[in-house]
Amino acid sequence: MLLKIVQIGHPVLRGAARPLTRDQIRSPEIQGLIEWMRETMYDAPGVGLAAPQVGLGLQLAVIEDRADLLESMPPEHLAERNRKPVPFQVLINPRIETAGDSVEFFEGCLSVSGFAALVPRFTEARVDCLDHRGEPISFHAEGWHARIVQHEVDHLFGTVYIDRMHTRSLATTAHLSRYWGDLPTAELKKRLAIE
Ligand code: ZN
Repeated sequence: MLLKIVQIGHPVLRGAARPLTRDQIRSPEIQGLIEWMRETMYDAPGVGLAAPQVGLGLQLAVIEDRADLLESMPPEHLAERNRKPVPFQVLINPRIETAGDSVEFFEGCLSVSGFAALVPRFTEARVDCLDHRGEPISFHAEGWHARIVQHEVDHLFGTVYIDRMHTRSLATTAHLSRYWGDLPTAELKKRLAIE
């Protein structure tokens, strides 16, 4: 089943989501929700989806950066972003600690449809969360995976990328690919008079 993705301005995107108990996670309702969120993310298509984006204030997000989507992108684009395939992951009640450098790339959100902007994110994140069975897991994410994790965890605490973006870089996705997509970040910032 495909879920409706709520757009910016909906209050659910601005509230703090509530954590789930192990029993709730194992319930047919949440197990079904995880599957529907996975289908909805594939259909969009997106590399992450948080429960508030489908109208539910729950600390649950799904992530996957599929190899078949990356194959159509230029290798230098992937290398610059340290972007590699990420298998399907379920993050419940996550806490993250960021590390590494702050790097800036264009980023979009399924709840701010049709736009993208330059957003600084850390290159590394350590994540502690529960998995789809309610078991505690920890992992280390880097590169684009770390960016996705930071974006999705932000959603669970009422933060959207537009709160962190360089406002002067906001672009429609059509204008991003037409004018800005191929430029290195330093050149982009110069042309956009950022900082
Ligand atoms: Zn988003």
